Amino acid sequence: MPTGLCLPFLTDAHLRLHQEAQDFAASRLAGPARRMEARGPHTDRDVREILSGTGWLGLLIDTADGGLGLDHTAKTLVLQAVSRVSPAAGAILQASILGAAPIAEYGSVELRRRLLPEIAAGRCWPSIAVTDPEHGSHVLGMQATARPSRGQYILDGEKVLVGNAALADVHCVIVRTDQPGHRDRDEPGRGGSLTAFLVEQDAPGVTVVPAPVNGLHGFSVDTLRLTRVRVPAANMIGEPGDGHAIAQMASVVYGRLNLAAVALGIHQQMLDETARRVTTRRRLGGHLADLPTVRHHIALMQHHLMTAELAAYHAARLLDAGTDCDPWLHNAKLTAHRAGAASSELAKQLYGGHAARLGEPIEQLRRDIDLIHAPAGTDDLQLLRLAESVLGPHRPQWSTQHAARRALRAA
Ligand SMILES: Cc1cc2nc3c(=O)[nH]c(=O)nc-3n(C[C@H](O)[C@H](O)[C@H](O)COP(=O)(O)OP(=O)(O)OC[C@H]3O[C@@H](n4cnc5c(N)ncnc54)[C@H](O)[C@@H]3O)c2cc1C
Repeated sequence: MPTGLCLPFLTDAHLRLHQEAQDFAASRLAGPARRMEARGPHTDRDVREILSGTGWLGLLIDTADGGLGLDHTAKTLVLQAVSRVSPAAGAILQASILGAAPIAEYGSVELRRRLLPEIAAGRCWPSIAVTDPEHGSHVLGMQATARPSRGQYILDGEKVLVGNAALADVHCVIVRTDQPGHRDRDEPGRGGSLTAFLVEQDAPGVTVVPAPVNGLHGFSVDTLRLTRVRVPAANMIGEPGDGHAIAQMASVVYGRLNLAAVALGIHQQMLDETARRVTTRRRLGGHLADLPTVRHHIALMQHHLMTAELAAYHAARLLDAGTDCDPWLHNAKLTAHRAGAASSELAKQLYGGHAARLGEPIEQLRRDIDLIHAPAGTDDLQLLRLAESVLGPHRPQWSTQHAARRALRAA
């Protein structure tokens, strides 16, 4: 179970899955986690092989499409358990779950049949490529384009910080197909100037440009360059103009909780390591853990972790119940990152000068939690959305759209 957290809504199936994920992570990922960290920034392929056999890429994919057909609570439990042992493996897994979301939610019958069973079986790894080098979180400002040409589209432009860029076999790429217009709104259900396409990694003109980051070693967040890439019209995901909705839905409904779960795993490992440190480091005839100040810091770390878990699992539960819950999803991501960052500062106090020593697990974990800040929206972006939930403009919710589409598929 997540740290001391009572989750009355967890079913026996959730509990079994969580145990399975914990056992799997301990037996299969602990070794690769150490190796990935020691190697520095790179793209790890061994973990891809290890995770491919789990079926967890298809955790949220409908059983009719070859997936496990599980819920967001199950996904959060698995990602937290994996990330507790290997934050990079958690990041790799979450990025592929995120990459499958556009196809599962908006893909044509043909795209779904062709890709989802392959993804669920771990034979095809997807990414989602939205982030523009200049416009970042202002998705509607993106500059990469697609223009129609004899039954195909020709894509040009660059996407940065793409999770699994160098690992994926297919990329769900959002590009501009029209000038920004009156139909562009940051709201579900409105067509606009952006469109989503499935781009095969081996298509001529697709290049992955290495752009290493310092953290989550083994996880690729490289640049995807598209130079006159020809894509069949059948590879369009959804309708022309659906790109903004697809990007937002993926980020709000899938990304917020994915990253919250990875943050929870990192946070939990940080608390495990720090507790071990203070109970074994000698001081004044006893151990650091005997000192009231140290106990207070550990209590605060536990408080941060429990608060973040409550925020994440509450949001997951609401999402699974089909409730309007966008603010809870923003809050889950915001709280998971901020609480983890606050615990990172406390761990720094408790490790003293050793907090920055290369090879100390805490040094790695403090870098890894920092990297959770930006994906699926920075803290400021989540605060912007939370302010809107109070002060307006009040927007229709992406979670509602997600629930409606799920109900339609189930019917
Ligand atoms: C580990 C990792 C994984 C990632 N995975 C993916 C992925 O799989 N696919 C993908 O497409 N992208 C991915 N990203 C990119 C991520 O989504 C972006 O970094 C994020 O959206 C923010 O964009 P930006 O970095 O360009 O920051 P910017 O948009 O430049 O924002 C920087 C800061 O400017 C301020 N700001 C910006 N806009 C506003 C505003 N409207 N109101 C108030 N303040 C504002 C805020 O302080 C904000 O934090 C990943 C990033 C990382 C680090």
